Amino acid sequence: MPGTEDIEAAIEKNKNSLQDIEHMINSLNDVRSSVHHIFHILQGRTEPESGNAFREHARFTYTALECLAKLALSSDAVLNDAQALELPVLQGPSPISIEVKRKEASEEEKNNAIPIRKTSGEAGGSIIELKNKEYQNLSVDDTLRWFSRTMRKSSQKVRATRLDTQDSMPFTTVKVSVSGVMNAFIVMETNKKGRCTSISRLVVFGAGEENPIWEDSNHLVFRKITQIAIGAVDCFMTKEPRSLLGIVLEWLATYSTLFTAPCSGCGKHLFFDSQQFKHLPPTLYTYNQPTQPYHPQCLA
Ligand SMILES: [Zn+2]
Repeated sequence: MPGTEDIEAAIEKNKNSLQDIEHMINSLNDVRSSVHHIFHILQGRTEPESGNAFREHARFTYTALECLAKLALSSDAVLNDAQALELPVLQGPSPISIEVKRKEASEEEKNNAIPIRKTSGEAGGSIIELKNKEYQNLSVDDTLRWFSRTMRKSSQKVRATRLDTQDSMPFTTVKVSVSGVMNAFIVMETNKKGRCTSISRLVVFGAGEENPIWEDSNHLVFRKITQIAIGAVDCFMTKEPRSLLGIVLEWLATYSTLFTAPCSGCGKHLFFDSQQFKHLPPTLYTYNQPTQPYHPQCLA
């Protein structure tokens, strides 16, 4: 039997490795952006870059692919080892199942507390339940048409347009302008029927920013919203994948009050988020309708 010290050292080492894995996941997102970027250039959807810049991107992409292949092999080996081990029986439920149960419980609470209404525009229900039927199985173009109709009807100054002109598969980019506040870019994969099947990138910029969509915003507030939006996409994708784009558009449109609406939790506008993000307005807009802005800390 190994001594306690050995086990402690092993646990410490594991903790460090797990941190490395988290860093790796972040890096993987960078690789993903670069691969998409190269893809767009090759498809002629993005302005060709200078020879050097393109070579640099391509070199990065190929190196990344090589690393990913090695990573896949090593992951397999780790999984095999882990599965071959006989683990001691854990005392009590595992932390993972507790987390899942907690989530299920809070979702059940939400579902019970909020009546589901089918008509749009009425108060109550989550944006997912309310908008799911309207957008289900629509193509990207029909989704944009329905969305602009909805925005016109409710006098909201939010426009969503396709940036690409070719019908080439598999990437489509949509720009969402929330008037005077922000622009969001959604890069998605589509199927043969022109329907959005998944969103591979969503990035939010300030209304005046003109960064390439493969970069991040220069402003902390929009970086924070980008983070939150990626979580929202995951949630919508799990619940209603067939109306994903429409729900994302409707939810992004609610950010038109970003610089004016106070937090529904503390009643203030600015709040010290963290050393990383400093003071921020409410950046988390709930999925309830009517939506409510919160500082993420005030919703917890
Ligand atoms: Zn607050």
